[in-house]
Amino acid sequence: MSDDMPEICVHLEEAEKRKTAAKPSDHGCKECLETGGEWVHLRLCLSCGHVGCCDNSPGRHATKHAHHTKHPVIRSYEPGEDWGYCYPDDQFLETLPARPGEAATRHYDAP
Ligand SMILES: [Zn+2]
Ligand SMILES: [Zn+2]
Ligand SMILES: [Zn+2]
Repeated sequence: MSDDMPEICVHLEEAEKRKTAAKPSDHGCKECLETGGEWVHLRLCLSCGHVGCCDNSPGRHATKHAHHTKHPVIRSYEPGEDWGYCYPDDQFLETLPARPGEAATRHYDAP
């Protein structure tokens, strides 16, 4: 056993090994687009591709989605950001590489 690497939870471990890419639901938070809400930053659910807004956004739809669906892991859906996060374990992974189509090529603003 090595102490160099911090242990990561099973959800993040599975997310690192995932073979299929999550297909982003839209270029914006799904719920905000439906209700005319605004967001700050976007997050991508790796279980189903739901795009939701971050906890600094009024809707906090990424977190609500995770709680409602029990989908554990998100990635940032912002350009240049590669981190992942597991909700049930409150665990952050600095680098959770994107599969093709998962990364945002630019920041999408609310319409
Ligand atoms: Zn986890
Ligand atoms: Zn939202
Ligand atoms: Zn989901």
